[in-house]
Amino acid sequence: MSNKLASVNVRRSVRIMDKHITRKILKNLRAQIQSEKQSKQLKARIASTPTPAFCEIVTQVSHVNKEYFSQLLLSLKYIKTLRPVDNHQLATKSVHLRRRPLYENSKTIIFDLDETLVHCCENPQEAEHPITIILPSGEKLNVGINIRPYALECLITLSKNYEIMVFTASHKCYADAVLDFLDPHHELIHHRMYRENCVNIDGIYIKDLRVITNRELESIVLIDNAAYCFAYQLENGIPIVSWYNDKNDTELLDLAHYLNSLSCVKDVRVSNRDTFRLGLLSENTEALLSQV
Ligand SMILES: [Mg+2]
Repeated sequence: MSNKLASVNVRRSVRIMDKHITRKILKNLRAQIQSEKQSKQLKARIASTPTPAFCEIVTQVSHVNKEYFSQLLLSLKYIKTLRPVDNHQLATKSVHLRRRPLYENSKTIIFDLDETLVHCCENPQEAEHPITIILPSGEKLNVGINIRPYALECLITLSKNYEIMVFTASHKCYADAVLDFLDPHHELIHHRMYRENCVNIDGIYIKDLRVITNRELESIVLIDNAAYCFAYQLENGIPIVSWYNDKNDTELLDLAHYLNSLSCVKDVRVSNRDTFRLGLLSENTEALLSQV
């Protein structure tokens, strides 16, 4: 294999998967929806579904834009088609994560990485921060990352009161390079989880929080731009608009206020349910998609 071809393959192997997976899901679902829209069956279903006031929902999901909301609904629709995770796979992915001193009783905030905290550019010259990924083969790959506005401030503030983790569907070699840049002394992010910790359902990597064996679901939230990632614990999920390069983005700043409020609640899932209403959206995806 030529060096050039090897390099191309290597780049593919470390490329962030979120957007590709999302694109694949969206393409399939759009086709499905298009065909369903033409059927009398769906019309009957929409007619019989109690449709919440669309504007009411949109205004209550505070950080949302139309395109993202459409993607969110498609993800929620996709989630409903997923089969359960089998216990064997869950067991093979399980991890026991040691509590750090002073965080024994803290709630856990888990961030996705790509398009939630950072955006990676294959061309280092297109990004603010060049980083070098060392692949399992030993080969070095130079890429660049941009850090989402308020990401570091958010991590610094929240890590004082919460246990912070990053859970990414990306490869460990890539994620570690990014996280070593963001948090070189492992002070802000207490644990890292990677693709190897995701469950794989028909080729899609999903972050099933049950793999963390020594945390309670009532005390964990997962912030992810891809809503299908929290498919198996919808009420633990906090959706966030995908970020690529908008320097005026304030999603994390806005979200920090909400996250700060979670320290005093008994069950984060109740707060999430009331705030983001993903369950309600999930029950009404077809009707809402027809209005987006
Ligand atoms: Mg992501």
